[in-house]
Amino acid sequence: KIPVISIVGRPNVGKSTLFNRLIGKRRAITDPTPGVTRDLIPERWYLGNHPVTLVDSGGVKVEREGFDDLVANKSLSLLSQSDAILFMMECTAVTAEDEELLTALRPYSEKVLLVVNKVDGPKRDDLVWEYYQYGFQRVVGISATHGLGIEDLEDTLLGML
Ligand code: GDP
Ligand code: MG
Repeated sequence: KIPVISIVGRPNVGKSTLFNRLIGKRRAITDPTPGVTRDLIPERWYLGNHPVTLVDSGGVKVEREGFDDLVANKSLSLLSQSDAILFMMECTAVTAEDEELLTALRPYSEKVLLVVNKVDGPKRDDLVWEYYQYGFQRVVGISATHGLGIEDLEDTLLGML
């Protein structure tokens, strides 16, 4: 069975930017306006030599709906079906939506890699350690737009499969 790796997080945290960077082409749509990524986007990807399915959980039409979906019902099956979950937060802001997702993810914490995004430079490195407070074993800081920390992310993911 090909492992499923899903990218989840509240709108605008950088899921599609990371997805595009990992897949290496602009399949998912990124936009500063929340709500532009539609539905779940699965794509074949290679983690090292391992074929995996990477899923960008953008949400359905309006990202707010997608988010509610994720917490409430439909996309919860994505979490149970995932072999690894890249749970994205950002180093610049933690919101009530993040907290809701944290609660939803608690049962799956064994397979969560907490990805702290928007760590765009050394000045923001110090912000990452605080995210260990959320109780996940694995935390990496990245910048999806600048391509920082991606190797660390991939190495950590490899260790989870
Ligand atoms: P999504 O809603 O979670 O899929 O988020 P997107 O990937 O669409 O990104 C939302 C916004 O955050 C866009 O304007 C991105 O350019 C921006 N963004 C994504 N990653 C980073 C990052 O590493 N650093 C900064 N500064 N901005 C980012
Ligand atoms: Mg998106």
